[in-house]
Amino acid sequence: MRICDVPGCGRKHLALGLCANHYQAKRRAELGPPPVPGLWSGQVARILGVSLRTVQRMIEAGDLLAERSPGGNFRIDPASVEAHITTDAQLARYRLEVA
Ligand SMILES: [Zn+2]
Repeated sequence: MRICDVPGCGRKHLALGLCANHYQAKRRAELGPPPVPGLWSGQVARILGVSLRTVQRMIEAGDLLAERSPGGNFRIDPASVEAHITTDAQLARYRLEVA
C-alpha cells in the first residue's frame, strides 16, 4: 500500500503523494483563506431599509454581529440581521439577499 510522502505521516495515500489530511492542507494553503461568510453592509442596509451609517452604528453597538473580511469590509452574520426584521417587506428582501 502506498503511503503519504510526508515524513513520519504514515497515512494511506490519497492524491499527489499525500494522504487525505496532507492533501487537504496543501489545497487550503493554495486556495488561501475562505471568504468570510455573511452579508455586506450594503445588503443589510437594503434589507432593513436603513442607511449605511445606521448599519455601521448597529455593528458598533453590537446589535449586528460582524467581522472584517480580509479586504477590510464588514461581513455581517445573517442571523443577527434576521433578528432585526419586523416587516414582511424586510423579510422578502432578506430572502432575496440571502438566497
Ligand atoms: Zn500525510
